Amino acid sequence: MPNCRGDQAKQNLVNNNKLVILGRRNITQNNPVNCCCNNTITTGQYYIFEESNGNIFYTSKGCGRKILDLMNINVRIPLFDPLQNQIQGLGAGGAGGNDRVAGNNEVGHNLRNMTDLNKEVYLLIFLVCQGCWDLDFPQRDPLRGLLSNLIKYPTNDIFDSKVTHINNIVGACNNINSIRDYINNEIVNNPNFVDFQFPLVNQIINDTNLNNNIN
Ligand SMILES: [Zn+2]
Repeated sequence: MPNCRGDQAKQNLVNNNKLVILGRRNITQNNPVNCCCNNTITTGQYYIFEESNGNIFYTSKGCGRKILDLMNINVRIPLFDPLQNQIQGLGAGGAGGNDRVAGNNEVGHNLRNMTDLNKEVYLLIFLVCQGCWDLDFPQRDPLRGLLSNLIKYPTNDIFDSKVTHINNIVGACNNINSIRDYINNEIVNNPNFVDFQFPLVNQIINDTNLNNNIN
């Protein structure tokens, strides 16, 4: 992990690297992460960055924002938080939808510069990692590259072929039958788990002859 403690270290890190931002998500239970400044983040959110050599490092919200500033990234990095507080969700979601879907909208609020399809895929990738491999984020391509591309090109809809590829990845993973099954099981264990919906992704898959492993 690089050292990013202090402003100069952050500047050096950005100067000496072609950093990529992969995403932002919440800390999962009992799974703290270390910020590159050496502080441990036990609650809340963290950013996931990739160095030129492919290594991953994490930052707190504060350190992450400073690094993003130095990278000249001005868009708000979308948040994946599967344990969305439903009241928060209602506040941001406004009218329409049930409580759980409103939770989805709160996530969407942070994704306002992304197309609706890209929003779905961004959230879906994190869910696939969690459901299929119990991972917080993708360890390798194609999912890792897809995440960074969604942030880089938020307004260009991802290709249908990438969506069906994700569907095939879920089909090949042994842990779950489908993302819908996974979500439903998680909701049984934790009523705050967001009932993510993927209407546009499902439409693309259902237009093919493939089994739908998302739904
Ligand atoms: Zn830090």
